[in-house]
Amino acid sequence: MNNNINSIKEEALQEITKADTLSQLEAARIKFLGKKGKVSDLLEKMKKMTPDEKPLFGKQVNSLKVSIQAGIAEAKKSLEQKSERLCSFVDKIDITLPGLKKKLGTVHPITQTIEDVVAIFRDMGFSFADGPDIETEFNNFDALNTPEDHPSRDLQDTFYLENGSLLRTQTSPVQIRVMMSKKPPIQIIAPGRVYRNDTPDATHGHTFHQIEGLYVDKKVSFADLKGVLHSCARQLMGKDVKIRFRPHFFPFTEPSVEYDFSCVMCGGKGCKICKNSGWIEISGAGMVDPRVYEKVGYDPEKYSGYAFGLGIERIAMIKYGIDDLRLFYENDERFLNQFA
Ligand SMILES: [Zn+2]
Repeated sequence: MNNNINSIKEEALQEITKADTLSQLEAARIKFLGKKGKVSDLLEKMKKMTPDEKPLFGKQVNSLKVSIQAGIAEAKKSLEQKSERLCSFVDKIDITLPGLKKKLGTVHPITQTIEDVVAIFRDMGFSFADGPDIETEFNNFDALNTPEDHPSRDLQDTFYLENGSLLRTQTSPVQIRVMMSKKPPIQIIAPGRVYRNDTPDATHGHTFHQIEGLYVDKKVSFADLKGVLHSCARQLMGKDVKIRFRPHFFPFTEPSVEYDFSCVMCGGKGCKICKNSGWIEISGAGMVDPRVYEKVGYDPEKYSGYAFGLGIERIAMIKYGIDDLRLFYENDERFLNQFA
């Protein structure tokens, strides 16, 4: 057979095999069998041949044409079957079935409470401050005017590490870190985890969260403290909540108070949650003790300021009506999903 005819046949069969779609197959058919296709070219050439050459060449071109036609027919059939199989598979998909739901995590109620409180104080001009969980005895006790023989320093209250440092028992050391690093005015809010050597029960944990607030400037008064705490209480618990100060003692504030929110459950009338008192104890606060200013190098004659703490678990328990704080740490999805 003519070499040229042979190579056209090979080329044609290759393109037919490669065709993945009916339109690709049609393009191959036009290229080889169309009016201006390669087979027509060969028939044009035959016109110039001698009468002796024509019969054999004609026979070979005809055979080429038949082979290409057969190849195309076979490929077409196979492509059609493939498309039918795909259609029947698609038909079996029930697009009315609901999709697969992905489980989404949620913000933990403790994290949510911290974020809520921080946002409230940010709106009042406080900036965020942070400190490490492992502290020095100086930052956690000495600089906060806590005497050597104070019971909170006891091994039964504080976790000490082998190198003499400790797990902070309060977020107050952040006050010391901030005051030692810059001059007033200082207005910070510092949330964090704190540790006490306590046996866990429904209202106590060995690890819990506090938010520390500190405001130091010229002429800061006790009334300012009451103002910000009342504003925080209203934003957290609703506009009708009241706040009350009770005299107390803390080494690092003078005067010191414990402060309560009026019970939002009973509106102050008295109920089980507030133990019929109408008030719920929140945390401690006071004016920064001048001795703390001396430790951090501030002039107590020039500056005054207040500090307060806020127990996050306590706030979350009141806000969400939870009577056992251990629930926050058991990671039971049934509990946590309620806050989604
Ligand atoms: Zn009550």
